[in-house]
Amino acid sequence: MSDAADRLASVQSRIDKAASDHGKQGDDVTLIAVSKTFDADAISPVLDAGQKVFGENRVQEAAGKWPGLKEQYEGVELHLIGPLQTNKVRDAVALFDVIHSVDRDKLAKALSDEMAKQQRSLAVFVQVNTGAEPQKAGVLPADAAAFVERCRTEHGLDVAGLMCIPPAGDHPGPHFALLRKMAEALDLKGLSMGMSGDFETAVSFGATHVRVGSAIFGARDYPV
Ligand SMILES: *Cc1c(COP(=O)(O)O)cnc(C)c1O
Repeated sequence: MSDAADRLASVQSRIDKAASDHGKQGDDVTLIAVSKTFDADAISPVLDAGQKVFGENRVQEAAGKWPGLKEQYEGVELHLIGPLQTNKVRDAVALFDVIHSVDRDKLAKALSDEMAKQQRSLAVFVQVNTGAEPQKAGVLPADAAAFVERCRTEHGLDVAGLMCIPPAGDHPGPHFALLRKMAEALDLKGLSMGMSGDFETAVSFGATHVRVGSAIFGARDYPV
């Protein structure tokens, strides 16, 4: 096994353990292997190990490597976890299966229009800026409920759940708890939260999707 395949197995078993410690099963939690900055050669061993669900944060970078990999491997599910500009929506809808970063009406409408045009139906997560950080994407917690409602009714999107990236210096627990409480109030099942440093904590707070990059692929050469 390659190093990445070993690390994938260890991340999966840590998810299974965290899930069972909290009365859930490992397959209640979808592991999204975040392959941003890694090329097809680095991703292949993880696909060979049976991983099907991957995350990327840039449309253009993903468009450079995933069409080829999708031809080689069946059943890949691609999640866009980074910010999306409306001028990239067409490419994003063509390539991805799930979008985690919906946070404004203009984007929600563009996605909905483009899905109709391409006759593709992607699930979306609404990103919530739980720490109200000025530089960070996402709707503010106070605006989330109304925005989710507009995504559903005005834009006709299939909202799967909420997503957050807690502020770097904070303990993530309160952010995960807030996201969960908001999702419950909106009757949303999906919770996309938890990265390499805190995915077990996220599972303990009810994450349904964890986005894990460096713990599987190793350290990235440059921060993204
Ligand atoms: C890069 C990234 C991750 C994965 O980060 P790691 O710390 O490498 O696990 C998760 N979520 C988002 C939105 C990211 O951009």
